[in-house]
Amino acid sequence: MKRREFLAGLGAGTLAAAGFDFLGKDARLFKPAPQQKIKNWMWAHPDPKISTESWKRKFDQAAGAGIQAVHLLSYTGAKAYYPSSFAVHEVDELAKILPAARQAGLEVHAWICALICNAEAVQKDHPDWFVVSRNGDSTLAKQPYIPSYKWLCPSRPEVYQYLENFVLELAGYVALKGVHLDYIRYPDVILPEALQPKYNLVQDKEYPQFDFCYCPVCRKNFEQKEGIDPLRIEDPSSHQAWKNYRYQTITNIVDKLADAAHRKGKAISAAVFATPELSRRFVRQDWPKWRLDTVHPMIYHYYYAKALDWLEPATREGVVELPPSRPLYSGLFISQIKPQELPKAVEWSFKGGARGITLFAMSSMTDEHWKALGEALKER
Ligand SMILES: [Zn+2]
Repeated sequence: MKRREFLAGLGAGTLAAAGFDFLGKDARLFKPAPQQKIKNWMWAHPDPKISTESWKRKFDQAAGAGIQAVHLLSYTGAKAYYPSSFAVHEVDELAKILPAARQAGLEVHAWICALICNAEAVQKDHPDWFVVSRNGDSTLAKQPYIPSYKWLCPSRPEVYQYLENFVLELAGYVALKGVHLDYIRYPDVILPEALQPKYNLVQDKEYPQFDFCYCPVCRKNFEQKEGIDPLRIEDPSSHQAWKNYRYQTITNIVDKLADAAHRKGKAISAAVFATPELSRRFVRQDWPKWRLDTVHPMIYHYYYAKALDWLEPATREGVVELPPSRPLYSGLFISQIKPQELPKAVEWSFKGGARGITLFAMSSMTDEHWKALGEALKER
């Protein structure tokens, strides 16, 4: 076995223990395992005004540029684009779009906003399902940042059941390849750097009005396990057991949804924050541990006040923490990437160890972007 192959077979932890500088010049060591095929994705929003014919044209253009799979928005947290018994719908957008995708040779995954919830029926019938801040405010009554920031508590079995019902319903679409989880996290206890001024905030530490969840179920669960009511923790931001509890509640819900999807023969994936460290710190996502088929970190450099070349180290941080068998696809924020910059963005993603890219979103792609992407992906 060649040295490089040998190293590629080792986990990141082993490499770190062996003293390799894997964030520096030895980046080549993080060539993904060869069994993971390269694949490129995009997020796409349905629009009842777009005809099946137009979808077909858009999908052909995307497929021609090297895209193979689509995360199609199917549930926004308030509205479903398919005949869900859980939310209002107008037309079955999935039934309209799926044949167009099939003709273009694209696989489709149903993208759902999981824990953010603006569904009126849930708010009315289950006000106790919503997360509560350290100040004691439910997001149903008082929202951080924006009025739609109403979030379900991942600790409640009823919330899990509610989400599982969506997954099982969507699994009924034979033409769907999988389910894609978004908003699968806590509300941001800290916002990415470039977003804080937008809300007139300086979040130099965790403030109680942005810190969740102190609902009765979470308080009781944690106290039973650790012997202390989280409200009595002096500095919750440095209390590792309390942080772990919240990482674990999200991990549990993802893993159970993964089991439900797999039982129905569907893949499962998630849109997660940019790097594992930022994800844990800002939104309590410990996504390298989730039992997903594919991971799509939103490496939106602009929100973090980073240059585009941040794609490479940010991608690598995720790849290093994930098991080698789980592919990562770098999420690109197209509205802040010029067509001529796109080849570099693709290159940095692959250099960081991604198995492909995920475009956010189809609607931001101009003809020039598609042309540039097609050329950048041709070589891969
Ligand atoms: Zn809770």
